[in-house]
Amino acid sequence: MPNKRTQVVIAGGGFGGLFTALELGSSCEVTLISDSDHFLFTPMLYEYFSGEVEEWHIAPKYGELLDDNVKVIKDNVKSVDFEAQTVTLDNRGESLRYDVLALAVGGVTNFAGVPGAAEHAIPFRKISDADKLRQLMVDALDHVPPDLPPQDTQRALTFAVVGAGASGVELSTKMADLLRDAFARRALRGEPRVLVIEMGDKIVPGMGGEIRELVDDALRQSHVEVHTLTRVVRVSEKSLTFEHNGANTEIETAAVVWAGGVRMNPLIESLGVEKNNRGLILVHPTLQLPSRPNVFAIGDIAFFPDATPTLAGTAQLALQQAGLLARNIKAFTTGDELQTKHFEELGEAVSLGTERAAVLAGGKSFGGPLARQARFALYTSRLPTWHHRLRVGASWFFEGTAPRPLLPLGLQR
Ligand SMILES: Cc1cc2nc3c(=O)[nH]c(=O)nc-3n(C[C@H](O)[C@H](O)[C@H](O)COP(=O)(O)OP(=O)(O)OC[C@H]3O[C@@H](n4cnc5c(N)ncnc54)[C@H](O)[C@@H]3O)c2cc1C
Repeated sequence: MPNKRTQVVIAGGGFGGLFTALELGSSCEVTLISDSDHFLFTPMLYEYFSGEVEEWHIAPKYGELLDDNVKVIKDNVKSVDFEAQTVTLDNRGESLRYDVLALAVGGVTNFAGVPGAAEHAIPFRKISDADKLRQLMVDALDHVPPDLPPQDTQRALTFAVVGAGASGVELSTKMADLLRDAFARRALRGEPRVLVIEMGDKIVPGMGGEIRELVDDALRQSHVEVHTLTRVVRVSEKSLTFEHNGANTEIETAAVVWAGGVRMNPLIESLGVEKNNRGLILVHPTLQLPSRPNVFAIGDIAFFPDATPTLAGTAQLALQQAGLLARNIKAFTTGDELQTKHFEELGEAVSLGTERAAVLAGGKSFGGPLARQARFALYTSRLPTWHHRLRVGASWFFEGTAPRPLLPLGLQR
């Protein structure tokens, strides 16, 4: 039996941290420290933005998921003292001691030093980011009268998404579908404009050909303008400037969303541990740090050499690592041998607008409304805890998953 008094501190309550805590249960004294009070099922942040799902479905509070034997502290881990085996927090005077530390703090938005981006572009990683974007879209729509000429309407309702990875594609198609619906409801003239700006030469670079065709098709159907080999050089409150083929163009924008990459978490940057050239923590196949056997790192902050490159930086990987980590923490506390595991690609499910998706499962891709249903079913099974899955599954089945229109401020529910 694991030693009951072993103090396990988990820094970060996302896919890696929360699922590790769930798996550890009452086997050790577990403290989970997270800077927010809820878990976030990020793959469905797009559906939360469009109103297809509700906050409680994808962002349940830790208290609803974890038993009382896991202590949750809402705070920011500021530093780690590996010698003293303590962590310090922003809002707590005394430091917290650990026997075993699991680092799972994830990444942060990478604005890549583009002038004005950090100040004016909206990141898309949290519930509050989705709320802010939605609010800006409603505000912009509310300022356009139905009799405004089409070209002026389009200028006032131009939105840019930076980055054409899965995130940029999923978000831009949702935005475009919501806007077109709002145009019809509000009898606006012309069309909205949603651009995706991508520095590379193709969209969704990590995905295979078949699924990419479905994505291309959805972007066309949602009237999203894709600009590849185009670099954002400046963002201001009301505009975005991009460079293509050596020429700069400035466009008026109602909002710019930054889905252009992830960078290292500042906490991890501050730690003097072995890292690769991208700043990711090097871990043994057991997820232990080479020089600190009682410290583990998983998810977006760790470099696990055996994981295929397409799994790096995904929830799929963090989730699978959490299972291994919990087993290894138990083994560490009992003096048993620590294990490793081969992590699998669990398939892909990309949301494409409010009516379609594309799913790759078992080597086969399919798209359309059926794929959207399959995506909801698949993600129900990946939500944390049986109890939460059942509640959410029942809510989606009985109450539906229709998007919430961008209604004028006074008419919103
Ligand atoms: C919008 C979006 C959609 C995505 N869609 C998919 C998808 O469809 N499929 C997929 O596989 N992956 C997807 N990802 C990637 C996936 O979310 C990450 O790879 C995964 O969450 C990594 O897990 P993690 O545990 O390393 O970090 P996270 O899940 O990011 O969790 C880190 C947690 O630590 C907290 N934290 C950070 N710093 C501190 C600190 N100093 N102190 C305390 N707490 C801290 C954070 O607030 C967060 O709660 C998506 C990401 C985003 C943003």
